[in-house]
Amino acid sequence: MTTANKKTCAVIGAGVSGLAAAIRMHNKGYQVTVFEANPFPGGKCSSESKDGYRFDMGPSVFTMPHYVDELFEMSGKNPRDHFNYIKLDPVYRYFFEDGTQLDAYHGKEKFSEQMAEKTNDSKEDIARYLEKTKTIYGLTEEVFLQNSLHKLKNFFTWPVFRGFLNFGKIGAFDTMNGANQKAFKDPRMVKIFNRYSTYNGSSPFLAPATLNVIAHVEIMKGAYYPRGGMVSITASLAKLGKDIGVQFNYSTPVREILIENKKAVGVRTDKGAERFDVVISNMDVYNSYKKLMPGIKGPAKTLDQPKSSSGIIFYWGIKHEFKQLGLHNIFFADDYEAEFDTIFRKKAIYHDPTIYVNITSKHTPTDAPPGCENWFAFINVPNNQGQDWDAFIAEAREHMIRKANRILKTDIRPLIETEMVFDPRIIESRTSSAFGAIYGNSSNNKFAAFLRHANFSKDIKDLYFCGGSVHPGPSIPLCLLSAKITTNLIK
Ligand SMILES: Cc1cc2nc3c(=O)[nH]c(=O)nc-3n(C[C@H](O)[C@H](O)[C@H](O)COP(=O)(O)OP(=O)(O)OC[C@H]3O[C@@H](n4cnc5c(N)ncnc54)[C@H](O)[C@@H]3O)c2cc1C
Repeated sequence: MTTANKKTCAVIGAGVSGLAAAIRMHNKGYQVTVFEANPFPGGKCSSESKDGYRFDMGPSVFTMPHYVDELFEMSGKNPRDHFNYIKLDPVYRYFFEDGTQLDAYHGKEKFSEQMAEKTNDSKEDIARYLEKTKTIYGLTEEVFLQNSLHKLKNFFTWPVFRGFLNFGKIGAFDTMNGANQKAFKDPRMVKIFNRYSTYNGSSPFLAPATLNVIAHVEIMKGAYYPRGGMVSITASLAKLGKDIGVQFNYSTPVREILIENKKAVGVRTDKGAERFDVVISNMDVYNSYKKLMPGIKGPAKTLDQPKSSSGIIFYWGIKHEFKQLGLHNIFFADDYEAEFDTIFRKKAIYHDPTIYVNITSKHTPTDAPPGCENWFAFINVPNNQGQDWDAFIAEAREHMIRKANRILKTDIRPLIETEMVFDPRIIESRTSSAFGAIYGNSSNNKFAAFLRHANFSKDIKDLYFCGGSVHPGPSIPLCLLSAKITTNLIK
């Protein structure tokens, strides 16, 4: 087909999902144009440098790398020539106020053995729990992850039927915390597994135990570190898109999705209107409706679901190397339930927060000056409901420094030689995520998976959505899957 008679597709947003959708649509034979509001690609998965330190600004835990690889493969390229990663083992270092340090290794055997050595749970019980998470994965993968949940025909398949027959096994009727309390004697093990609810911005005390499947993905399937940091995922995909002929327009926010006779026909930017056969929005679906189609009545029930948590992140240049820390570190709150209650009910910040510290200079030494470390220090916070964020940031900084000092038995305050900070307002303004929620709708009820927006519009022809705010959900691999599901729906 010549360019002149190719069908055309507009992609709004060059987040990881928009990039994947653009590459897939190009490979389907479309002429693809990406419109990105920022001067750079990647959305949440981007990078900044300051005073000799480089920081990944958003995601840091990377699973299921084959979903990146397959974009190169379908474009006729060897992924290893463009994007590389290493498998992590151990994956995490967990720190508790009682002085315990637990390393989470890859694979059922090693994970269970190491955890059993330092906790009150047996290797057999831990291994049995991991087998259960594997069962949940087996029963839910095809139903939730590989197909649109919103097409009736997808419900008349064997995997869905099998899923319904085994509904009791996927944990839909218990909370994560409920299931984990039953599985483990040691409260530290409960905390370690409850933590996975934060991967989609939910509370383990409210989210269904089905989400224990996330532990399976990380512990059994493995976690990886992309060489050059997380930004190499989106940087390499943006380069791939450009190399195969996708057209990118940066610093070009879309102001309106053009709709005629209930059909998407193009987009309007500050440069004017452009017609396209198909429009895919990678912009947060809530804001796609509210800002780009204000005249269209969106699906209120789906759009008005409670949103996920957000984060306060300090990007600290630390002039010291902490040998006891690894790439991924967690300093756990003493009272996890009180922490989540503060975030989701009080919509405030907790005085003893669980801190996640990511240090890429452990693997990429050039990310920090010699003898120094680049800390991404993150705490979960509520999404933006107009709270006094400047006050919250000042408070959070104190709480986090005091907690790090207790865990590391030193004073980190004089070691912080450079600092940047992100809060929900900044996340909102940089990526158009509604209320600065990182993960779209929260999963704080058992129907949440069904209440994410579909990958297509039910009312407007040729309008599609992809990314963390729609099916199947947030995280890098789910956003890559989202693009796959979306583009598979397009002829
Ligand atoms: C602090 C933080 C930590 C995280 N940790 C992890 C993690 O460890 N592991 C993991 O897998 N995931 C993690 N995530 C989640 C993950 O980053 C996201 O799920 C994923 O990057 C979202 O990608 P996306 O393509 O849906 O959207 P986004 O990255 O939000 O991209 C949307 C893009 O659309 C653009 N845009 C919006 N509106 C318009 C418009 N009108 N016109 C043009 N362009 C527009 C935006 O500028 C942006 O570039 C984290 C996220 C954050 C913020």
